Amino acid sequence: MNELSYANKKAQVLADLVFEKDREEVDVCPICGSTNFIKYGKDRNGNQRYQCRSCHKFFNTRTNTFFYWSHITSKQWQDFIYMEKNKCSLDEEAKKLHLSRTTCFYMRHKLSEAYKKEALVR
Ligand SMILES: [Zn+2]
Repeated sequence: MNELSYANKKAQVLADLVFEKDREEVDVCPICGSTNFIKYGKDRNGNQRYQCRSCHKFFNTRTNTFFYWSHITSKQWQDFIYMEKNKCSLDEEAKKLHLSRTTCFYMRHKLSEAYKKEALVR
């Protein structure tokens, strides 16, 4: 596989992961591994939040992923991944996604870490 198609494939995998994770159900606490947790409202993105009864931490399906920020929607992440792949500037990304340049800067950093890893979560 050449380098470009590899990059395209990885971008696709990461973009799909964001959507899949947001639809997933949780079966264990991602922090301590306990199965003793309760549903605890929804975040601003409309995704289910949970509270663990063992470690008392709050979590959702994004916990321990590169896209854990709750205020960024799956769609924004997907658009961001494609813009990064196309080498857009932070200013262009911020404008298109209605996010601050600083947020896009951190998103870029998180995404590049995810790109480097074989395992795409955590
Ligand atoms: Zn826990």
